[in-house]
Amino acid sequence: MSRIGANLEEIHNRIEVAATKAGRDPERVRLVAVSKKVDADALREAFACGQRLFGENYLQEAEAKIAELGAGYQWHFIGHLQSNKTAQAAGLFDLIETVDRLKVAAALDRNLAGSGRVLAVLLQVNIGREPQKSGVLPEEAAVLLAKVRELPHLVVRGLMVMPPFLDEAEAVRPFFRQTRELAVKLADLGLLPPADEVDLSMGMSGDYEVAVEEGATLVRLGTALFGARG
Ligand SMILES: *Cc1c(COP(=O)(O)O)cnc(C)c1O
Repeated sequence: MSRIGANLEEIHNRIEVAATKAGRDPERVRLVAVSKKVDADALREAFACGQRLFGENYLQEAEAKIAELGAGYQWHFIGHLQSNKTAQAAGLFDLIETVDRLKVAAALDRNLAGSGRVLAVLLQVNIGREPQKSGVLPEEAAVLLAKVRELPHLVVRGLMVMPPFLDEAEAVRPFFRQTRELAVKLADLGLLPPADEVDLSMGMSGDYEVAVEEGATLVRLGTALFGARG
């Protein structure tokens, strides 16, 4: 078996163990293969092993790969989105995980007007309140969500977070838990889908098992799948 195939198998096993440990259905967890700086051949290999969902950070790089790889792939945008690049992003991606301000959401909505399309998005929350990171602050999420929900061409499926980078995966657990609790609160306000439907994109190569235990439905893995980025 190829290295990527073996990594995929290992990741799926670990997700299953973590979900089962937490009393969750492993089927609720999807792997986003983070393919930034990974060449198209490696994506083809992952695709051949059954992987369909890929996450890209950079629009130009994504545009080239999406054009090259053709049908059957699903694409999430996980990078920082600028409001002057929303037309390109809306055209390329199935879901945008990093909506964190009204300006970007409104621009996406305008780009989709007349297309007949509704674009799925996640609200990126700065759950660790780190000044250098993108994302709406937790206490401002409800107000932003209420406004984004009024945009007819967007549908908010859940939350995405990038918690602080910490050496110990266990140390990140409180941030994953806070994200789930915030999602429950927002669902109670009628602003997000209920717990059994909402998407929580959290967990990367170093901490995804903890994230799954705490309720992740999308784990974004690059290194664990493709190896260290050059
Ligand atoms: C690069 C990246 C990842 C994946 O990181 P790994 O540690 O390689 O798994 C996940 N999410 C975002 C937003 C990223 O930029």
